Amino acid sequence: MSPTNHAFQRCLSPDCRATYGVDEVHFGCPKCGESLDVEYDWDRLPLPGKLSDFEAYWTQRHDPIRFSGVWRFQSLLPFAATEHIVTVGEGQTLLQKADSLRPFVGLDGGELYLQYEGMNPSGSFKDNGMAAAFTHARMLGAKRAACASTGNTSASLSMYCAVTKLMRALIFIGTGKISYGKLAQALDYGALTVQISGDFDDAMARVREVCQQLDIYLVNSINPFRLEGQKTIMYRVLESLRWTVPDWIVVPGGNLGNSSAFGKAFMELKHLGLIDRIPRLAIINARGANTLYQLFEQEGVRWNEGRWQRPTVEGYFEEMDAQQRKASTIASAIEINRPVNFTKCLRALEVCDGVVREVNDQEILDAKAKVGAGGMGCEPASAASIAGTKKLVEEGIIGSDEQVVCILTGHLLKDPTSTIAYHTTDQDEFNEVLGKRGVTRASFANRAIAVPNELDQIIRAIQLYG
Ligand SMILES: *Cc1c(COP(=O)(O)O)cnc(C)c1O
Ligand SMILES: [Zn+2]
Repeated sequence: MSPTNHAFQRCLSPDCRATYGVDEVHFGCPKCGESLDVEYDWDRLPLPGKLSDFEAYWTQRHDPIRFSGVWRFQSLLPFAATEHIVTVGEGQTLLQKADSLRPFVGLDGGELYLQYEGMNPSGSFKDNGMAAAFTHARMLGAKRAACASTGNTSASLSMYCAVTKLMRALIFIGTGKISYGKLAQALDYGALTVQISGDFDDAMARVREVCQQLDIYLVNSINPFRLEGQKTIMYRVLESLRWTVPDWIVVPGGNLGNSSAFGKAFMELKHLGLIDRIPRLAIINARGANTLYQLFEQEGVRWNEGRWQRPTVEGYFEEMDAQQRKASTIASAIEINRPVNFTKCLRALEVCDGVVREVNDQEILDAKAKVGAGGMGCEPASAASIAGTKKLVEEGIIGSDEQVVCILTGHLLKDPTSTIAYHTTDQDEFNEVLGKRGVTRASFANRAIAVPNELDQIIRAIQLYG
């Protein structure tokens, strides 16, 4: 029997709870407008008795579905028949114990781990979700798939289209808002790239209209199937910790797809009896794009069993529009003021007893430099998780003896401009990229030394600085 018979979509609203088949495409409940979840009749599906049963697949890496760090866990996201599954080898990522970074965040007696999702084929965690959404698009026979993007979703979609040739990619990006590494990918992979004047929130609004009119499959994280793939990031974290649950998961928040997916993953694992406790979740906003922080921490908006404070939230966005406030941060991947998964994220914060913090661009870049100095590095948005951890340890919310996993969402090479500007000796370059964002120092810069092309001067410089 096909697993799709036991999967369906369901409205999150407790006053609606309408259900839809997995063969339907909706971005929001047609009846009430609330978000949709993918759900399963777990009782009628084959499940592992314990999480370590998944280890049996480690010896089957010749099979692309077992090799994939997403589809290895197919029985925990069983919405697709195996013949429809799409994989480009995503999810081969690493949980690194980051002892050298521990003093920076102040975890004296605790443990700090970095989950390097930048190791995915397109260089960000987005491949986890794209594998799932692309599979769903294939189930439905889609010919074109589209997204609005701050860069990584478009890079990922473009890659899935280029590798599989199953669909054409159409991507919408805001002007001047996408980093070079990400734009380079979309162009090289052959995506039809539409640059509109505006930011991510503008591009998102447009792409929804275009997809509706032209019947194109939309892969933004408003798409509930994306989140099914992103659950597997948490399965791999647990796997790396030998199936034990850490105290904290810390993740940057943009559209809040990741945090929502993590909450759903833990909710389901607990429900299925596969874990006995749920880690706490910390979501870190950039100060220049801090809608979740404002609404959750300042306005006190809560999930409240699905009856969250709608007037407060609507009032917040009305004021934002009236003041024409736009998101602004060096961490372009989280430069988003209207997070599309806001509702689901409130639920995740409830399920995981979560907190939200904001960090500024200075804190983000200093944390990013420390991550880079400790190993493989990450892009600015990812480093918000480290800056946020530091803040939460200082506040005493995260105990200095706790076990903390920070999700590094994207690869260092995604945004060379911000990295070079941080390390530069050229004050004009620093001001042009960072100074205008309120970044005043580069405390952890590693500056290149300029030396004339003369052997004795080069030798002297190395002896002086080395
Ligand atoms: C997309 C993205 C984010 C934001 O994730 P959400 O799920 O939208 O909250 C953070 N970091 C990087 C590198 C990203 O590409
Ligand atoms: Zn509904």
